[in-house]
Amino acid sequence: MNGLMMDVPLSTSGIVRRARQLHPGKPIVSRRADRTIHRTTYGECVDRAVKLAAALRRLGVRRGDRVATLAWNHWRHLEIYYAVPSSGAVLHTLNLRLHPDDIAYIANHAEDKVILVDKVLWPLWEKVAPQVRIRHTIVMADDGEVPSGTLDYEALIAAESAGGEFADVPERRAAAMCYTSGTTGKPKGVVYSHRSLMLHAIGLALTDAFRLAERDTVLPVVPMFHVNAWGLPFVCGMLGCGQVHPGPHLDPTSLLELLAAERVTLTAGVPTVWLGILQKLDSAPAAFDLSALHSMVVGGAAAPEGMMRGFKERHGLTVIHAWGMTETSPLGTISRLTSHIEQLDDATQWAYRAKQGRPSPLVEIRARGEKGLIPWDGTAMGELEVRGPWIAGAYYHADDGREAFTEDGWFRTGDVVSIDIHGYVTIQDRAKDLVKSGGEWISSVALEGALMGHPAVAEAAVIAVPHEKWDERPLAAVVLKEGATADPAELRFYLMDKFSKWWIPDEVVIVSAIPKSSAGKFLKSALREQFRDRYGQANPSLRGLSRSS
Ligand code: AMP
Repeated sequence: MNGLMMDVPLSTSGIVRRARQLHPGKPIVSRRADRTIHRTTYGECVDRAVKLAAALRRLGVRRGDRVATLAWNHWRHLEIYYAVPSSGAVLHTLNLRLHPDDIAYIANHAEDKVILVDKVLWPLWEKVAPQVRIRHTIVMADDGEVPSGTLDYEALIAAESAGGEFADVPERRAAAMCYTSGTTGKPKGVVYSHRSLMLHAIGLALTDAFRLAERDTVLPVVPMFHVNAWGLPFVCGMLGCGQVHPGPHLDPTSLLELLAAERVTLTAGVPTVWLGILQKLDSAPAAFDLSALHSMVVGGAAAPEGMMRGFKERHGLTVIHAWGMTETSPLGTISRLTSHIEQLDDATQWAYRAKQGRPSPLVEIRARGEKGLIPWDGTAMGELEVRGPWIAGAYYHADDGREAFTEDGWFRTGDVVSIDIHGYVTIQDRAKDLVKSGGEWISSVALEGALMGHPAVAEAAVIAVPHEKWDERPLAAVVLKEGATADPAELRFYLMDKFSKWWIPDEVVIVSAIPKSSAGKFLKSALREQFRDRYGQANPSLRGLSRSS
């Protein structure tokens, strides 16, 4: 049909042009490695991004080439975020918490052409460099000195003349890529298009999502190498929100200082970060003025209800729970209360806030059990499948992980969920973390959430341990808060009125720390290994049987 709307591509260049034109003076604040504060503005940031793009072109970077980063969250990393996709190349953020061999595998798999690395991460890069084929190494240094054989980021920018801006990039071209954390099998590449990043940025801003506006100041604790800092650098540029970046200093006190000093309004990260912050606030309730902070978004792992309540009831702070994955950009579901649920009693409202929530607009969900799609009744469990314009349609190298995509075009998440009548999703487990006792599933996430509601518990991880009678039984590893005491029997008793008897972990083991993954989530594979032989050999004859049979 004739007379349609303009076919203007959805391209990150539009975000960057808008940032310079409409909010050139808005602040971008970063903490350097030496703890000093660096301040710049969108105007300056985009001017430098344009120069960086020119310098990269001079080095031979062409459309579609992968440009890697190995860097903390700071203003230079943001310049790269804006420069690389908007000039037609592909931003590939490497996860600095991975083993050097894994970083090398990922850089080679993606065929990265250039790397931009923080000087403070040079010792790590030196272990990776001999294993990779990279054409140019650019170092971001605060002291003006870079290792020999490398290029100085600041000198490259200084050599370019001012002027110019980013042209549109066709929307279905690759803009960025991240690799899955790959706790099982090799990491797999996820490629974001300009279109997917733009639509996702708009999705994040919505009132029923992150509720962002120009007046906001955003501190992403989530690293820029973890799913594009959840898309925050793009949505902030689009809206003109101030940005605050913590650099390498992610300890509770450093974060709290920045949140207070910069009057941050929204921050986002994984639960382990907020558990630490809550403990710090509990021990020094009046030390930090967080009166500007309206939302702390928590995702990447289940947010315990006790933690969410603790922030609200003791400190007046609101935690918003969201679910997502590298493959989902990441916004999949988010738990905002509907007008209907807001009418219900307090306990029910809290239970809803602690769920993973309802799918974002443009994201569709369904879940599949052993006998097909499950009903949305809040109890049936099945594997969550999703589809939408910012959900991966395949992995980079289409043969990788082909089984994750259904024939009718949905992505199989590997998360086992129930969905209730209102469309709220509850993640019961990663499929591989579920405890299958006597043929019935036990949700480790539910047990962990309850344990972390105990006043003495700082962190809890529940794992399946092979068992000679029941095939598997749950075991809880618990870290106590500093100075708190609780014995294992008391903690088991605490769970008794909350769960059926057969859900109660056979043991609660007090440990000094729970191993964490590169994204700061509990590393259950390490715990499973540690406790593998605790209850004898598994009983394979029970697999697939229901508990009642
Ligand atoms: P990643 O791709 O590394 O971000 O990991 C994605 C996985 O993290 C998901 O498949 C879930 O298993 C888990 N995850 C993310 N958000 C949540 C959440 N809010 N609650 C429980 N698990 C989550």
